[in-house]
Amino acid sequence: MRRPILRYGDPLLHQKAAPVAAITPAIDGLIEDMRETMHVAAGVGLAAPQIGESLQVCLVDLSAGRRPDQLLVLINPDVVERDGMQLKEEGCLSLPGIEATVPRPWRLTVRALDRDGDLREIRAEGLLARAIQHEVDHLNGILFLDRLRPVYRWAITRRISRLRRAGKW
Ligand code: ZN
Repeated sequence: MRRPILRYGDPLLHQKAAPVAAITPAIDGLIEDMRETMHVAAGVGLAAPQIGESLQVCLVDLSAGRRPDQLLVLINPDVVERDGMQLKEEGCLSLPGIEATVPRPWRLTVRALDRDGDLREIRAEGLLARAIQHEVDHLNGILFLDRLRPVYRWAITRRISRLRRAGKW
């Protein structure tokens, strides 16, 4: 089932999510809802808090739904290694219409449970590393805005405040 995506400012997006204790049918249903919501929105990643569930589950799919084998499900992810740096424009489904250049590690290693509850270690670089770091940040209550220099963050939050006052956020 497709779910509404929370926007910047909702308290759930700014708090650390709880670890998943067991892969129950409810968690599997949550993953299905996230997959559908992400693909309808044509996103390449989605974290459970973005649809109102403060749990450590996130998805990454660089094909945006075109290739089912590209879907990565990360449960209780832990980034154990980061290396290098990249700077690219980035967006977020919780910050529609807003993009900014965000520093990210070039390469990382993440350990996470997959959908079957098996522990996996994934090494990623480039765009995939960026997308994984973005989603893992969500699970720690961090949005890409929080990674910007204060002057840029301020400009964007001011824009959001204006949209909110106009009832458009
Ligand atoms: Zn995001």
